[in-house]
Amino acid sequence: MDPIIGQNSAPSYTFQSMVEISHFQKDKLPPSKVKILLVEDDDDHAELFMLSARNYSAASISRAETLTDAIAIAKSQKLSLVILDLGLPETVGLDTLSLFLQSCSSTPVMVLTAIVDLNLGEEALKLGAMDFLSKEEITPRTLLRSIRYALERWSQKRKLEDSLADLQYFGSMAAHDLVSPLDAIHGFSQLIELELSKGKITEEALECLDLLKKSAQRSIVLVRDLQKLSSLGRKSIERKELDINTIVKDVCSNLSKLISETKGTVEASEVLPIRGDAGLVYHVMQNLIANGLKYGRDDVPPHVRVSSCIEEDYTVICVEDNGIGIDESDSTRIFLPFERLTGASDKKGSGLGLSICKKIVEAHNGEIWIESTEGAGTRFYFHLGS
Ligand code: ADP
Repeated sequence: MDPIIGQNSAPSYTFQSMVEISHFQKDKLPPSKVKILLVEDDDDHAELFMLSARNYSAASISRAETLTDAIAIAKSQKLSLVILDLGLPETVGLDTLSLFLQSCSSTPVMVLTAIVDLNLGEEALKLGAMDFLSKEEITPRTLLRSIRYALERWSQKRKLEDSLADLQYFGSMAAHDLVSPLDAIHGFSQLIELELSKGKITEEALECLDLLKKSAQRSIVLVRDLQKLSSLGRKSIERKELDINTIVKDVCSNLSKLISETKGTVEASEVLPIRGDAGLVYHVMQNLIANGLKYGRDDVPPHVRVSSCIEEDYTVICVEDNGIGIDESDSTRIFLPFERLTGASDKKGSGLGLSICKKIVEAHNGEIWIESTEGAGTRFYFHLGS
């Protein structure tokens, strides 16, 4: 039987229970980078907890005896989990949890208390606790399991909160950005109607029709990019070795209209392979190459060159163009959604392309950055981490 960490129970480890627990999936215990803070004023309970947790987990575990100390530690360190006793010198019951969460809402908390009360447990979860454990019932085995589940629950909660915040942000920006092309479509249709009422197809009507088509095109690009972005949050990364030379060839045939419109050229030779999600990496390459063609200088045909190099442990892909370049002060801003620099308004685009690339690269644990000289071209670099 597992030893019990309970209010009235003395430590009762047996050789058998130690052996049994040491067999208990050691590889799946919380890893050493996990930092746990136990908030417990009772020395015996704290000692028993520390003994159990330290024996069976590689996580780093420290202790605070008061709520004030716990809040101070949680504010100054990045903790993975706080295990909170509800009966502390300053407060008792759910107030302890509420006060902690009011001050440290971004630290996950699990309650470990002597009080056995289902309702109290439910209330604690409603307040935001990741789990509610009774000292009377807990064993090292169930404690470790709860810690693992609490860490996973917290990570899922953070992901959900991030996607929700992204959705709200993109939703409001998209609504804002969709209004102008739709307004234009409405205005141009009225003008066309007026011109057609003259009984013939006038030059002005044809011009308005052309502008109407462009506005509709802008809305389509924006909606497509938003679709891509929202699907990213749901997609899991499937890494495999990718031949970038083949991807560049495919991208070029997809962009053949843009290449012939801009009289551009794209070159890639012996680019090293990288490990990533085929569809997502294709999207990054297509965006970077299309931008290299789109943001060319007047009277200089755009030329895009794809190359690679090894830096530290990573293969870095470089997409270089000879276009208008980007001022150093804009090198971060361009990766934010809907940010378009001066001179971009006459080019087709939604201002979402690079923010999608950044999201894709970061979803692979990688990085994307630029080097540029304004007026002389830009080099986009990315690697996909591991
Ligand atoms: P867009 O749909 O406007 O092309 P992106 O997110 O791809 O959106 O790019 C954001 C902005 O960064 C562009 O509007 C443009 O001002 C600038 N930009 C992107 N790529 C380049 C480049 N290769 N050269 C110069 N400016 C660029």
